[in-house]
Amino acid sequence: MRVLLVEDDLMVGAAVRKGLRQDGFAVDWVQDGKAAELALQQEDYALLLLDLGLPQKSGLAVLQSLRAQGNKIPVLITTARDAVADRVAGLDAGADDYLIKPFDLEELSARMRALLRRQSGRADSLIEVGDVVLNQATHEVSLQGQPVNLSAREFALLRAFLDRPGVVLSRAQLEEKLYGWDDSIDSNAVEVHIHALRKKLGSDFIKNVRGIGYLVSK
Ligand code: CA
Repeated sequence: MRVLLVEDDLMVGAAVRKGLRQDGFAVDWVQDGKAAELALQQEDYALLLLDLGLPQKSGLAVLQSLRAQGNKIPVLITTARDAVADRVAGLDAGADDYLIKPFDLEELSARMRALLRRQSGRADSLIEVGDVVLNQATHEVSLQGQPVNLSAREFALLRAFLDRPGVVLSRAQLEEKLYGWDDSIDSNAVEVHIHALRKKLGSDFIKNVRGIGYLVSK
């Protein structure tokens, strides 16, 4: 799942990006409001994590124009403790939730998962397809009730498939969900992760659709 992080504080941004990557998110990070708008035009993100105090263009202005365009992407704003008026303005402008700095990375992750669940219409963190169950909150995956250990990338890949069972996903679509701008992509990385998932979840769990991509059946 690919998210856009907008944060001009370099230490906060680096820490958040690192934490979200460990959680299996692909993260693009920009540091001002104009760059955020450009990124939002170019990429299709699952969620926007938006600092309100930004150079070039404020987070609030970015959010207002986003909503004015009819863009319904889930938005989580981050503000300073004393910036109550900003927070209220942010929520009124269409933010879905907020966090006060400094925030805990685990809380950030939990809030993001809650927004993504709401967006997908799911009430809980479990996604179940066939014999495979994925828990988005704990990152646990099981096959026929037995726990399966996955790397962060394998988990992210599996989540991409289970989000849309029965839909063929191309390699380009999968890469887009797995990697942010700063991540290097090996030319066969998606195939390598799919190979690993098949070994762990059964060889026909992920099917090849020749010339198009890959599919996990409903
Ligand atoms: Ca700031």
